[in-house]
Amino acid sequence: MADFDLPVQPDADAPKTMGERYLLPQILAGKPVRIFVDAPGASDKDYAKYQEILAKSYNKWFTGTADVIRSAKREQEFADIMPLLQKGVNVEFVDHASAADIWAHILPWSEVRWKCGPSAGGCYQRREGETPDLFLPKDHFVLKVLSSGQLGLSRVGLHEVGHSLGLSDQYDKAKDSTSHHRYSSAQSGKGVMSSLKKFSCDDADGIVNLIDLVRGVARGGNTGWKSLCPKSQDYYIRSQSALRSPYVLSLQEDNSLLLEIYQNGEKHSAQTYTMASQGAFLPLIPAKETVLQRDKFGRPLLSQGPHGEKIYYYYVFEAATRMAVLNGKALWLSQHNFVWNGRKKMDRTTFFFNQNGAFVTTGVVVSKNKGGSAFYIEENEAENRGLLVKLAFDKKGNSHVTEWREAYGIVEASAKKKQGDKEMSVASQAIRRQVEHHIGVGTREKIKSQLAKWYQIRQEQVKK
Ligand SMILES: [Zn+2]
Repeated sequence: MADFDLPVQPDADAPKTMGERYLLPQILAGKPVRIFVDAPGASDKDYAKYQEILAKSYNKWFTGTADVIRSAKREQEFADIMPLLQKGVNVEFVDHASAADIWAHILPWSEVRWKCGPSAGGCYQRREGETPDLFLPKDHFVLKVLSSGQLGLSRVGLHEVGHSLGLSDQYDKAKDSTSHHRYSSAQSGKGVMSSLKKFSCDDADGIVNLIDLVRGVARGGNTGWKSLCPKSQDYYIRSQSALRSPYVLSLQEDNSLLLEIYQNGEKHSAQTYTMASQGAFLPLIPAKETVLQRDKFGRPLLSQGPHGEKIYYYYVFEAATRMAVLNGKALWLSQHNFVWNGRKKMDRTTFFFNQNGAFVTTGVVVSKNKGGSAFYIEENEAENRGLLVKLAFDKKGNSHVTEWREAYGIVEASAKKKQGDKEMSVASQAIRRQVEHHIGVGTREKIKSQLAKWYQIRQEQVKK
């Protein structure tokens, strides 16, 4: 699921009702889901068809979950929710937009792409304080052919309705970024939220967990309950996958790092670490670690680095976050995940650390055989200066600077494209000298060569 435990108002405390941003609490309270259908140019017959598809989509999430439980022969175990699931959802269609809980816009695909993004088949959107929208594509044979039959109102509708209940995407391009830091599966599952295809046991797991969260039920107590997917090793304690890392790492607004430790789905402890100021540039060259603790998949959870630092690991699907701690301070936070450049899957590593009082974010993006990029951003609030460097790498690993920006006080000098600092256009030589004095030519070359070296190391690792 996504931001299910967040309140409707951004700065409010924890929500009174879990999932209050979504439609599930009102459904569980026995209230209808009131939908306003907006389908410009549609005939009465079309409207009737759209209403039928939308009502079916809401119901499918409940009756489909009941079907999965029944075919797993686990009705007894879920006896508390079976009647509710079998009953389905009471969907009402309203004539006035203001009376609706959700608006369903059924539009030509071109308009859906305009609203949802160039490659989207549809989307669910909500803005603070406003009625949420479903943007769904009208059925059209061109759309079906282009998507090999995947994109149609029924399939896209079922997926987007899943979002309106509180589920997040499970397909590769989105799952790391939209999934909840606790309430998400340990491994990828197949289903409506991942491929738009068939309603699956993974979708059913999600609905059971959502219902339990809203009702405050800890199904199975401290031992939890086993996934409805027969081949899955996963089980859930307090609606969270028990195979998830016990550590959750996050970067706070003041650049301190938060380590939360969970046990049996409950927060056991939390600790904030400030970042140690380090003189060394780029702590990026992989160092030998001794793994102290692993998860069920064999991935490290806790290890010890060469200087005695403890390294904590936290995973959301393929995204791995690490933090190194020594003498009560954090040395660095790093993130490893995948990003998509069109259809190209790129491997990205990012480090965050404090260098001589400046907060540094630096990363490399590498593809197997098509080049990549690297960046370096330094922010020193106390001295009011900043530096941003971006490098592009070709297939052979040759680099060129695509962006170089230096800010010092109120003066900013920037150079775009190609030669970087050689072609830097600065307003006056005086300003240039001031900036150069601060950054130093030697430091520039060092940044470039270190980024290139790091890129090369990552590329060799990714190729393997
Ligand atoms: Zn989606």
